[in-house]
Amino acid sequence: MSATASSTLERGVFIDGVALPIEPDTSAITNPGTGELVGRVTNAGDEIVDAAVRSAAQAGQAWSRHGYADRGKIVHACAEAFEAHVDELVPLLVAEQGKTIREAQIELHKAAETLEHYAGLAKQVRAVYVDALAPGVEGRVLRRPLGVVAAIVPWNFPTTLLCNKLGPALLCGNTVVAKPADTTPFTTLRLAEILTEAGLPPGVFNVVPGAGSVAGEALVTHPLVRKVAFTGSTPTGERVGALAAKGSKRVTLELGGSDPMIICADADLTRAASAASMGRFYNCGQACLATKRLYVLEPVADEVIEAVVAKAARLRVGIGSEPGSQIGPLHSERQRQTLERQVSESVAGGGEVLAGGGRPDDPALAKGWFYSPTVVLEPPDDSPMAREEVFGPALPIWRVKDLDEAIARANDSPFGLGSAVWTGDLETAERVAAELDCGYTWINSPTKVYDELPFGGLKASGYGKEHGSEALDYYTDTKSVVVKRTL
Ligand code: NAD
Repeated sequence: MSATASSTLERGVFIDGVALPIEPDTSAITNPGTGELVGRVTNAGDEIVDAAVRSAAQAGQAWSRHGYADRGKIVHACAEAFEAHVDELVPLLVAEQGKTIREAQIELHKAAETLEHYAGLAKQVRAVYVDALAPGVEGRVLRRPLGVVAAIVPWNFPTTLLCNKLGPALLCGNTVVAKPADTTPFTTLRLAEILTEAGLPPGVFNVVPGAGSVAGEALVTHPLVRKVAFTGSTPTGERVGALAAKGSKRVTLELGGSDPMIICADADLTRAASAASMGRFYNCGQACLATKRLYVLEPVADEVIEAVVAKAARLRVGIGSEPGSQIGPLHSERQRQTLERQVSESVAGGGEVLAGGGRPDDPALAKGWFYSPTVVLEPPDDSPMAREEVFGPALPIWRVKDLDEAIARANDSPFGLGSAVWTGDLETAERVAAELDCGYTWINSPTKVYDELPFGGLKASGYGKEHGSEALDYYTDTKSVVVKRTL
């Protein structure tokens, strides 16, 4: 399946191992960089979602009875097949999401790697045994799958955010119904075919594209869904959490963020400035974990600001499918409008634009949702760039007088997802890591997520963990069993 200007796609939902034909109720998917039609896809409604959940529930009866090692073998085969199809999937992801070829390659390899990571844990899962609860009495703590998992995913990283859920869910014996974002269904639908061809039994992984308010809510409220694994914005996550509470469902919420980075006077400033630039502008700034607020200690502020501004100005903005593009378009008109409001209000409040600050003037980019890499110096503390999540290529920078001020301002945010500190001093680094209220701190390191480490936010950034062996706890339930020996 590939999307070119001359051949647009037509896709239905994926249920019970079968890619169904397109239905009359469809959405058009357009390329964010060119405005061209990529294809049309079925909008799943209540009946389709019900069929997908029932298929998953049925498939779960056999899937949950496999041993971990057997499921691990199948997930491993899925990861290998995914990896073998990366080159095929890249143009599809670029076309529907807008990101650059390089970013699509990185995303897809990473998503396959995450599946492989969970396949690799298959022989390490342990339950607990408690000896001598009383004379002749022992206890066991069993780990059981939850059942049908609803995996609801946004459009910024359609495949990695899916595989963060799919890997642990499948390994633990759950089955999955995924709802991709309504604007990025195609890569996920093709992936479902690839994984099924690789040996995933029918019904174990189903895909229902459609609107969040229809397909998403039908899934969250379906009585057979036992866990909702949601990644998306904070307002939607809070609504999903409230809906899921009705059926006492398990929920993990991976929500928005506004990650601070602190650069100290003794830092390697070249590497720190690169990390800030990469952390802010990667994926056109549309990442949950991203450098969204930069605090620099006074003595080195000018040097850092100059380096970050130079990097922003050098980035080549372009259509994702053009090989030279380093930063693609925003994903939608709405995203660009929101970013434009956030920057203009922050500048009106007193922030100074040091780079970018508007749309690029290249006529070749006029049909896409482009925005130039932007740096704004010291917008007010109550401005949108300080308080809201900025989901686009615009970085605010503030000078701070000392580490106390840096930590206090970094923590003064509704969000608590990631953070970073650059310093040459171990004690400073450890203090920052201990005191920042969030789920991840990178010390002198670019913002890279490791499958080995648990990841999840605090405050308005949600709750629950993905990645790490900890993720398995969010896809299993424990059950206590007491055994009284008769002897
Ligand atoms: P969104 O909340 O609008 O949509 C996310 C998903 O939820 C989509 O599939 C959407 O269709 C669905 N949805 C929308 N309304 C729904 C409803 N009422 N019921 C059920 N599902 C519904 O988010 P977005 O704007 O598409 O994505 C960007 C957001 O995602 C940003 O805030 C970003 O920070 C966040 N994000 C968080 C993480 C993380 O791991 N913390 C990772 C990536 C993105």
